[in-house]
Amino acid sequence: MAKSKLNSKSNMKDRKTYCIMCGKEKNGIEIKIDNVIKTIRYIKKKIFHTERNNRLVVCEECYQTYAKNRKRFVSRQRLYIGLGVVFLIFSVFLAPNVGSFIIGLVILLLLYILSFLNYTPELSISITNDKNKLSKFLNTHNKKELKNNT
Ligand SMILES: [Zn+2]
Repeated sequence: MAKSKLNSKSNMKDRKTYCIMCGKEKNGIEIKIDNVIKTIRYIKKKIFHTERNNRLVVCEECYQTYAKNRKRFVSRQRLYIGLGVVFLIFSVFLAPNVGSFIIGLVILLLLYILSFLNYTPELSISITNDKNKLSKFLNTHNKKELKNNT
């Protein structure tokens, strides 16, 4: 217990901040450490021993792309799960037995796993609902873009 506490403390010290989109060492809005990220970290730690417990963020330059990707991921995941459920209902309806129910469940599970292929994590704070925070965050970026355009 004491040892792991010490480890996490030393990890905190030399933790680096990386943008999940461009992979550069940058500051930005921190992403939420959800079960998917926890699983990836666990696998990296246990199998590849490469987990450095970095802070993961979305930098302001990447925010627009991130928001687009996140939206696409969420809607695609809904579609996949919806398809799986429809398939399950249809297979049970057409052949009402345990076998088709299991096949339907397996297909649903496969679609669910597939939906994580372009996984885009959630942000730790809901900046999209806070117009002030969002415009403040994007302000510097937009200014830069304006400069580039003129
Ligand atoms: Zn970035």
